[in-house]
Amino acid sequence: RPMSSNVAAYEVDEEAVRVQWLMPRQAVLGMANHQREHYNFSFTGIFDVDAKQDAVFENVAQKVILGALDGFNGTIFAYGQTGSGKTYTITGGAEHYVDRGIIPRAISLIFSELGTRSEYTYTMHFSYLEIYNETGYDLLNPDHETKELEDLPKVILLEDDDSKIHLRNLSTHLATNEEEALNLLFLGDTNRMISATPMNMASSRSHCIFTAYVEARKAGEDTVRRSKLHLVDLAGSERASKTGIDGQVIIALHEKIQGKPRSHIPYRNSMMTSVLRDSLGGNCRTVMIATVSVAQDQLEETISTCRFAQRVA
Ligand code: ADP
Ligand code: MG
Repeated sequence: RPMSSNVAAYEVDEEAVRVQWLMPRQAVLGMANHQREHYNFSFTGIFDVDAKQDAVFENVAQKVILGALDGFNGTIFAYGQTGSGKTYTITGGAEHYVDRGIIPRAISLIFSELGTRSEYTYTMHFSYLEIYNETGYDLLNPDHETKELEDLPKVILLEDDDSKIHLRNLSTHLATNEEEALNLLFLGDTNRMISATPMNMASSRSHCIFTAYVEARKAGEDTVRRSKLHLVDLAGSERASKTGIDGQVIIALHEKIQGKPRSHIPYRNSMMTSVLRDSLGGNCRTVMIATVSVAQDQLEETISTCRFAQRVA
């Protein structure tokens, strides 16, 4: 994210962290006023501070979303310290239409795609889960607006005999068009803001998972093809990245995908990773977006985020 959303301060501000692109996928991170101190990283792709939401969407999200319509589970999540742009990336800026992020753009793409796919009949449901201190809350519970958070039913993880995860008390909502789905997103985001106040629940400490459930029926056939798309705004990495179990799970999964032997993936230790269990690794499309700030006083966290992201790139 840039220094300020209004001005391109990074170009002139001596306090900014300088990010220099070496090759298309390599970055050197350093301080603008300290030429000697620098760190090398490589990633699948890098967006400069002036990257626009549509470019981010086209390059990182589109394929995962279309994949979900084709039957592949998908997950896109934003990882980074508080204030680095996770919510901006996943949900978007509230003021301008061009600033809308991955979720509203995903909703638009899904419903415009469905209009062009005549071979299948699609049914779309959505849920919106917030996890705070390992406790899940349904952001689309109709009582959310009027009741205290502690009086709402908690979302409970259940594992069936086939070790499939089910979420009790998480409502799923049918949406037949873009507007209905966007209204669910707005309702959930509003509830997220309301609930943050009474319990002093900083949004920086909760994970939010917006999920699209795809059901596709082929004309003349009885079978239903199901897939899920999770769009995840993680809790600020400044609390979890170093010792956090979520980080461990992501790394363990990555090693599994790479074929490295690892006997145990610590899913069970974390509600978030249990929820994502069938949508990470294996036959799924997963994108992690690491968000960083260019402010110099954030350099340490920025380096830590880059190190983490590089491990799973
Ligand atoms: P996080 O969710 O990681 O805590 P936010 O997404 O809330 O961070 O971003 C912090 C502030 O920076 C918000 O005011 C947001 O609008 C702004 N911001 C973040 N990324 C960008 C960007 N790429 N361009 C413009 N403004 C941004
Ligand atoms: Mg946020």
